[in-house]
Amino acid sequence: MDYLAGLNPSQRAAVEQTEGPVMIVAGAGSGKTRVITYRVAHLIQKRVDPFNILVLTFTNKAAKEMRERIMSVVGSEAKNIWMGTFHSIFARILRVEAELIGYPKNFTIYDTDDTKSLLRAILKEMNLDDKLYNVNHVYGRISSAKNNLISPQEYNKNEALLAEDRENGRPQMGQVYMTYAQRCYRAGAMDFDDLLFKTNVLLNKFPETLYKYQHQFKYLMVDEYQDTNFSQYLIVKRLAAVNENICVVGDDAQSIYAFRGANIQNILNFQKDYPDVKVFKLEQNYRSTKTIVNAANSIIANNKNQLEKNVFSENEDGDKIKVARAFSDNEEGKIVAEAILQEKALKSLNYKAFAILYRTNAQSRAMEESLRKLNIPYKLYGGTSFYQRKEIKDLIAYFRLTYNPNDEEALKRVINYPRRGIGDTTIEKIIVAADRNQYRLWDIVANAQMFLDGRSATSVSNFATMIQSFQAVGNNSSAFDTAMHIAQHSGILKDLYEDKSVEGLARYENIQELLNGIKEFSEREDIEQKTLDVFLQDVALLTNDDNDKDPNADTVSLMTIHSSKGLEFPVVFIVGLEENLFPSQLSLNSRSELEEERRLFYVAVTRAEKKLHLSYATSRYRWGTLNNCEPSRFIDELNPSFLDLDFNPRSSAPSSDGAFKSDRIAWQTKEKDTFSKPKPKVVKTTSILPKAHVPTPGFAPSDTSNLQVGMEVEHERFGFGKVVNLEGNKPDIKATIFFKELGQKQLLLKFAKLRIV
Ligand code: ATP
Ligand code: MG
Repeated sequence: MDYLAGLNPSQRAAVEQTEGPVMIVAGAGSGKTRVITYRVAHLIQKRVDPFNILVLTFTNKAAKEMRERIMSVVGSEAKNIWMGTFHSIFARILRVEAELIGYPKNFTIYDTDDTKSLLRAILKEMNLDDKLYNVNHVYGRISSAKNNLISPQEYNKNEALLAEDRENGRPQMGQVYMTYAQRCYRAGAMDFDDLLFKTNVLLNKFPETLYKYQHQFKYLMVDEYQDTNFSQYLIVKRLAAVNENICVVGDDAQSIYAFRGANIQNILNFQKDYPDVKVFKLEQNYRSTKTIVNAANSIIANNKNQLEKNVFSENEDGDKIKVARAFSDNEEGKIVAEAILQEKALKSLNYKAFAILYRTNAQSRAMEESLRKLNIPYKLYGGTSFYQRKEIKDLIAYFRLTYNPNDEEALKRVINYPRRGIGDTTIEKIIVAADRNQYRLWDIVANAQMFLDGRSATSVSNFATMIQSFQAVGNNSSAFDTAMHIAQHSGILKDLYEDKSVEGLARYENIQELLNGIKEFSEREDIEQKTLDVFLQDVALLTNDDNDKDPNADTVSLMTIHSSKGLEFPVVFIVGLEENLFPSQLSLNSRSELEEERRLFYVAVTRAEKKLHLSYATSRYRWGTLNNCEPSRFIDELNPSFLDLDFNPRSSAPSSDGAFKSDRIAWQTKEKDTFSKPKPKVVKTTSILPKAHVPTPGFAPSDTSNLQVGMEVEHERFGFGKVVNLEGNKPDIKATIFFKELGQKQLLLKFAKLRIV
């Protein structure tokens, strides 16, 4: 079986041990993910039906890459493997089973934004001080309760939790959790944590459903097992209980999500849960040079709470780790950008070979600026997701409402956008009427005449009728036709089209991009049901990185260390190595938090294959003030024999010429002829929006000095319309014209290409 030739004996043994519980706890770069990938291919070669295999990965992207690798061995069968993140896999199962636990199949997934907006509304209704009840804190508390499988009812009976809240001055916390859960339920919505929490409820309450999935998933595998929380742990445990063909891989030294409830105990429990577990050791790192592996080992040795592990590399020694000091974050950006150009030229690398990793997203700005200045193409990972942009969320809210009219966050978002005369007072009245009668907001909206009066009743009824008409279209049309219909008839397209500012144009283009994506979806051949509700299902779970149009583009990667987990790059820059930034200020209170920061540093260092650069600035703006910074203790902890620095990291004075000789190099002058500027990439998307007006043959603008209100006109681009208002004095007369296709617009007559019809 030559496809197993690319494995060393212990990796191969782990791959071939397909039956029974298997655990691999091993250091970074030792081939854990590779073992899972080959193991799945091996199972399929052994005639296991891919539908019976469940693989849980850390990101959607990781799942996609793994699937492609497996496909190269076993062919298109690999498409049928159940492979994805915990959230996406269990959302998919909940879609099928939702009705058992009282949710509609079309339940909405509330993203972080929706959750916070709902929490804010609840805090306001309960008259709670939003400083004390900080929305992030409240969210965190609820999230942590759910991930420990504590329901609102249990929370409110748990004296210890309630006492803790009282001591923190938040005696109403339990009630907030209760109300939040009721509201989500009323709206037919689940938040991210619910996807796991409700899966547990489902598997716990319905033995026949549990049985069904236990028999479906004959083989389970979990990557990055060290970062699973209790809720995830329990799902896996339940599903594996019959066949016990479960293989988990992880590295306790890379556990970096304790702050989000990940529990390293899960690794230790595994041996207790499955006493006959087969444990495999992987000790050889194939990713990095000896220097990098040894430096990483020396870092983690500073942590007290570690499982014993031996990691070695048989790769070359490689370059020493470069440490650079800058005076400011901008200077740091410059040093990094210049070093990229230099190294790229010296070693004939692509931009793709480089990654810049930082502790917090805010640090990307200085890096981006310097990369742009030197025309270095880059891709920012994990930034604001395309799907989080306002205009995209607005249109998606219409889609959500079409398929789940009880979705209250979507309803509140668009009931008066674009403006249709439904003011805050009316919305307030709807909410009060719903609460008073224990109805859903939609019940009030759909029966507006019963609950509201006068003009507001009419506007709200019209809105309800419009949503109902979308539902009718949605039931009978393709995803794209439905989406296009909604974009046009909701008024969103027109609203954005009328905004001629640069931002407005960008928003209009984003909507077009979304519609393009839906069109592609409508034309996919690998999905049976191509209606808009299916497209909508996972949108809340998509991140920017999943939307990567061009994954092979030659760009430098920028991301936080958290999102670099599992990845590898030939050259890695870890920037901002300063006390209070990395380790983060918030982590300095306890050993366990500091150790988590150190594991984060270990993760960062072990992403590098050939060369690692570290840098820090001696001053940095944070929260608007310029602070002096100390180099991070993590630099000190590295054995100096691995480092390449020609200055004393503890002295704050710059070297004699004010810069680092090693980092600022004479070749800069050659830059112009060595590097041709990358051409800006033009992404061409064919417009699928209404075609621009084609002027009638022989169209010639006429004299508009005698234009009158009520006259019919033709505009070269906007088409036919009627003048509804004229204001101002010659020569600056502004005409308001109502165009048939586009609605109302204001034009300055002296520039407008108009013909009186
Ligand atoms: P991390 O802890 O960072 O997730 P990992 O243990 O999952 O790392 P992999 O990503 O699976 O490690 O492997 C690291 C690199 O080493 C990959 O490029 C992989 O292809 C390569 N590799 C692993 N095992 C072998 C092998 N036996 N022969 C050649 N290359 C290997
Ligand atoms: Mg891995």
